[in-house]
Parts: sequence; C-alpha cells; structure tokens
Amino acid sequence: MTDDEPDVPILCSACDTETRVPLSDVAETLERHNETQHDGEECAQVDPDLADQLADLVAEDIGLL
Ligand SMILES: [Zn+2]
Repeated sequence: MTDDEPDVPILCSACDTETRVPLSDVAETLERHNETQHDGEECAQVDPDLADQLADLVAEDIGLL
C-alpha cells in the first residue's frame, strides 16, 4: 500500500451519512459501523457509483489487470 491511496465514500442509507475513508480502511470501517450501529446488518456500503471504479483499482493493485 502507498501513502497516496484514494479516499472512498461510504454511504449509509440508514443513518443518511457519507464518510470518506482511505481505501485500506474501507472494509474495517464498514464492518465496524454496521456492527456497532446496525447489529451487523449491512446498511453502510461503498458509494455504488464508485464501486465499479474501485473494483478496477483494486484489481490493478493486486495485478489482475
Ligand atoms: Zn449507519
């Protein structure tokens, strides 16, 4: 991982909030939010508009493309 990783918007429809976190923190942030705020329900998720781009980014990162 590098220091200049992109921030990723996380949307929670239940809380009506948007939070930007570094790419490497996304999974942990989502898990913690849903665990603590929503009893483990997957309410918060990565902005769907970005999810596709993100998938490409991650795929590039791990050398799939
Ligand atoms: Zn929430």
